[in-house]
Amino acid sequence: MIIIMRRSATEQNIEAVIAKIRDMGFEASVSHGTERVVVGLVGKCRQMDAAGQFRSLPGVEDVVPVTKRLFHTSRHYKKENSLIDIENIQVGGEEIVVMAGPCAVERSDQVFFTAMAVKEAGAKVIRGGAFKTQDTPEDFPGLGEQGLEILNEAKKETGLLVITEVKTPQEVELADKYADIIQIGARYMQSYDLLACVAERGKPIMLRRGIMSSVEELLLSAEYLMNRGNNRIMLCERGIRTFETLTPYTLDLCAVPILKRLSHLPVIVDPSHGTGDARYVPAMAKAAIACGADGLLIEVHPNPKLALSHGFQAIEPQQFIDLMEELRAIARAVGRRL
Ligand code: PEP
Ligand code: MN
Repeated sequence: MIIIMRRSATEQNIEAVIAKIRDMGFEASVSHGTERVVVGLVGKCRQMDAAGQFRSLPGVEDVVPVTKRLFHTSRHYKKENSLIDIENIQVGGEEIVVMAGPCAVERSDQVFFTAMAVKEAGAKVIRGGAFKTQDTPEDFPGLGEQGLEILNEAKKETGLLVITEVKTPQEVELADKYADIIQIGARYMQSYDLLACVAERGKPIMLRRGIMSSVEELLLSAEYLMNRGNNRIMLCERGIRTFETLTPYTLDLCAVPILKRLSHLPVIVDPSHGTGDARYVPAMAKAAIACGADGLLIEVHPNPKLALSHGFQAIEPQQFIDLMEELRAIARAVGRRL
């Protein structure tokens, strides 16, 4: 349950609400927004009965029962968009943040070449997997720590931030040493112990929607992260499984305005995994910005035909450079910049 304080509420009013929550045997979670304070009652209670007890307290504007346990992630908890600060960039503001790079780190020249090209085109983050999630055991598993070192070198060379994925607590520990953003893969979205382990590192996290998960399940997984005190969470729409067979996944772009309505967290769209086909990546990238995405994650490879992972959905550096020009125009048209 969320208790929204009036703009004019005093410190004593807020303290009284917190004290009442504690008297009732629950925990209070206080969020200071730019305009007003919101107090969350954490724990299971008969919401309708409890709501009445708070509504009459001085300084309380509204009491919102939280359905289906969405709490920290919800717009009721925080009305304004969350801005995620990562070194010198902000995700969730006016700027559209583009993350780009190969599916897997293969060699240092592959990453360096790609990093230079995407940086030149305006990307802010280099992506690359060192611990890959693959659909068959024969596929490239990634270079492990050596891959992280290559990403870190590329960061030193270009100033790009680094995002990389993890699957196990051991990988979390390593990735924490080298990466700026930790990616939780679609297949791990509901690995709650892994979520807790990543969240506790305090690093920004990109949580990817499971291939058969609803929008609400994505938000519930984000609740696990925020519940551990980590507020720097980005949600990622990366395509879901449907009956359509002409693409491996269906990019659910309607999830973007839905997530933006329900939650204050930034939303990133991945048109590469979302379509699984490089031919559709530019169109879906443009559509994603048009429908309100705060960022994009795009797979770029210097030679997609030779890629060890996901070459079929990677675009070439020159295509990426051209695409970024087109994206700039779309961003301007929707009041954003890139
Ligand atoms: C990836 O980013 O290369 C990846 C495997 O993503 P997902 O977890 O969404 O499949
Ligand atoms: Mn990939």
